[in-house]
Amino acid sequence: MNSLLDHTPEELRARFADRGIERFRADQVLHWVLVRGVDDFGAMTNLSGDLRSALADDWQVRPLERVAVHAAGDGTRKLVLRTADGALIEAVTIPEERRQTVCVSAQVGCSLDCSFCATGRLGFGRNLEPGEIVDQLLHAREVLAESGLAPAPTNVVFMGMGEPLLNLKNVIGAIRTLTHPSGFGISPRRITVSTAGVASRMAELGAAVPVRLAVSLHATTDAVRDQLVPLNKRFPIAALVEACARYPVARRDRISFEYTLMRDVNDSPEDARRLAQLARKARAKVNLIPLNEHPGTPFRCPEDARVEAFTEAVAACGVTATVRRPRGSDIYAACGQLGTLGDRGRGPSSPGSGR
Ligand code: SAH
Repeated sequence: MNSLLDHTPEELRARFADRGIERFRADQVLHWVLVRGVDDFGAMTNLSGDLRSALADDWQVRPLERVAVHAAGDGTRKLVLRTADGALIEAVTIPEERRQTVCVSAQVGCSLDCSFCATGRLGFGRNLEPGEIVDQLLHAREVLAESGLAPAPTNVVFMGMGEPLLNLKNVIGAIRTLTHPSGFGISPRRITVSTAGVASRMAELGAAVPVRLAVSLHATTDAVRDQLVPLNKRFPIAALVEACARYPVARRDRISFEYTLMRDVNDSPEDARRLAQLARKARAKVNLIPLNEHPGTPFRCPEDARVEAFTEAVAACGVTATVRRPRGSDIYAACGQLGTLGDRGRGPSSPGSGR
C-alpha cells in the first residue's frame, strides 16, 4: 500500500498520472481528505466507482491512530498518537486569543539529548514520514471539532518531539502539503520550525519554504551551551548565529531565539546582556521559557522576580523579549515535557515499543 499523505500535492498528481489517472483527481482526493476530513474512498462521490475501488486498493490514507487525548485546565490538549509500527508520538493543541496553534512532532523520540529536556531521555526512534506529520494536524482538527467551539488550526509549530532539521526532507514535504491551497492552506508565515541549532541545514529550509525559524539557544557561552545542548560541540554559538543572520526573513521580521531560563545556570545579568548581543547579530527576538521542571534533571526554574529582571535586562538592550507562559503543564504537554510522565500507566512510550 502507498501512503497518500507522504506525497506533496505535486507528487501525488504525478503518481496519479503514472497510473493513467487524470492529474486533477489528485486534488479532488486531497480536498476530501484535507478539507472535508473524509478518508474513505468509497465516500468520495465525485469519483467514479471504478476509480474509487482502484484507489482503495492502492492507497492508505491515515497513518496514525488516536490513543488518548489529555485536556489541560487552560484548554491545551495533548494528543497521544500511534504509528503503524507501534511507536507513540504526541501533538499539542494550544488555544490562544485569536489563533489555534498546533505543536507537532518531527521524529519518534530525539537523538540530541539536551540535558533539561524530557523527550531526549527517550532516545531516538526514527524519522516521521511526511504523512505522519500531516496526519497530526488532521487528528488535531478532529479533537478541536469534537470539543465544540474551538476553531480549526491556524498556526503550526514544529516544537514537539524530535529535531525537525534532522528530518528536513520529510518536514519540507509535510509543509508543502499543509500550505497547499487545496488542503489546510496554512500560510508559511504561520508555520514555525524550531531547531536545537543544526546550522548546516537552516539555509536549505529557508530556501525551500519561507517558514519562520526559531532557534533553541539557551546559553550565551559555548562552555554552558556544550552542557545543555550537546549539539553545540558540532555547531558552536558563533557558527549558529552566523547561520541565523543569513536565514531569509522579511525586512522588519525577526527569527526567534528560544531561551529556557534555568536557575543559576543561564539566568545572570551578564547572560542577559550577552543574549541581547547575540540576538542583534542574528536579527532575532527573544522568547524566554521559564524551565518546566521535571523529575530526573537537576535543573530548577528561576524565581519570578529573576525571570522578570532577566526579561527587562534583555529589553533594555533594545531587543524584543517575551516570556512564554507554560501551557498544558498539568498534563505534561509543555515545552520539553513530551514523551514523559503524562502517559505513564497508559502504555509504553518508548520508541518502537509494541502495541
Ligand atoms: N528539537 C527542536 C524542537 C523542539 S522545540 C528544538 O530543540 O528546537 C521544544 C523547545 O522546548 C526547545 O526550545 C527546547 O529546548 C525547549 N525545552 C526543552 N525542555 C524544556 C523544559 N524542561 N522547559 C522548558 N523548555 C524546554
